Amino acid sequence: MRILGIEGTAWAASAAVFETDDPDALRSGTGRTPDPAVDHVFIESDPYQPDSGGIHPREAAEHMGTAIPEVVETALEHAAARHDGDGPVVDGVAFSRGPGLGPCLRIVGTAARSVAQTLDVPLLGVNHMVAHLEIGRYQSGFDSPVCLNASGANAHLLGYHNGRYRVLGETMDTGVGNALDKFTRHVGWTHPGGPKVEAAAEDGDYVELPYVVKGMDFSFSGIMSAAKDEADAGTPVPDICAGLQETVFAMLTEVAERALSLTGTDELVLGGGVGQNARLREMLAEMCDQRGAKFHAPEPRFLRDNAGMIAALGARMLAAGDTLAVEESTVDPNFRPDQVDVTWRGADES
Ligand code: ATP
Repeated sequence: MRILGIEGTAWAASAAVFETDDPDALRSGTGRTPDPAVDHVFIESDPYQPDSGGIHPREAAEHMGTAIPEVVETALEHAAARHDGDGPVVDGVAFSRGPGLGPCLRIVGTAARSVAQTLDVPLLGVNHMVAHLEIGRYQSGFDSPVCLNASGANAHLLGYHNGRYRVLGETMDTGVGNALDKFTRHVGWTHPGGPKVEAAAEDGDYVELPYVVKGMDFSFSGIMSAAKDEADAGTPVPDICAGLQETVFAMLTEVAERALSLTGTDELVLGGGVGQNARLREMLAEMCDQRGAKFHAPEPRFLRDNAGMIAALGARMLAAGDTLAVEESTVDPNFRPDQVDVTWRGADES
């Protein structure tokens, strides 16, 4: 089975080819680290980089308008080079249906529909946040993990129950990456700010900032205001970055531990671009180690927005017969993970 995936929810115009000789292994409980002898993933991405400020929806959509056709063409050429039989070069076209920026999603949806119709293959509508989770579950071989999605526009904990990934806890305001990016914009750094916070924190001394966790929900707005106030008061920015990392990631680690404890699960997977941060991974790994739980963080190219995870989940959906009619394939900027019927896991799982 060979699937084309298309991603473009915000900044990454990305297309991928996911190919497996073992579609049965896409079913639940048989995930595994990608085996080069069986699986093949090709990802072509073209990121949008704002000249100044944060992600501007109109500029991001303009970027998608030119970059998506190019990355899709490259991915299709790659698929064609691996195709040695009759029929279409891919068996289905998977695309990010949401959540994300509406103007960007509409370009992705249009591209996916036109390729699927041209090749006369099924369309697969993928929830971007569920894809962040499933790439980790698939690669780790975990059965039913709690997932911490720590991305730019989102931050939440997901756990599977009765056919859906339920939101166990989430940010009460901004996504975690967006919060870091807002601080770095305040101190004049270019987007994205997260990697710069990580680099600066190495030379910083911890500064105390507000810590806001309520059950399994959490809030970043007060911390960011306090961090900006510290910068305005002349506190060295590396010190604030060290305080931000320790505070924000301790909050995420605390809620992840609570979710593991309350669900009785001993598997945690990490998803999202902020998951590229080594300090976050270290804190989560240590917490899991202390409670005897297993932890998996996908490699960076599968953590940040990428079409590989879209194509990989699209393959699981196609194996389960979960295709999308073109006339019902509108995108949804507010598509929540708990709206998705998880058709690709065994019906007997709870
Ligand atoms: P979503 O998946 O919710 O749509 P998104 O589209 O913003 O989010 P991601 O690629 O998941 O995209 O995450 C991007 C975010 O990750 C940015 O906010 C960026 O600053 C942050 N980020 C990237 N690398 C690091 C890092 N090393 N440390 C902290 N944050 C990082």
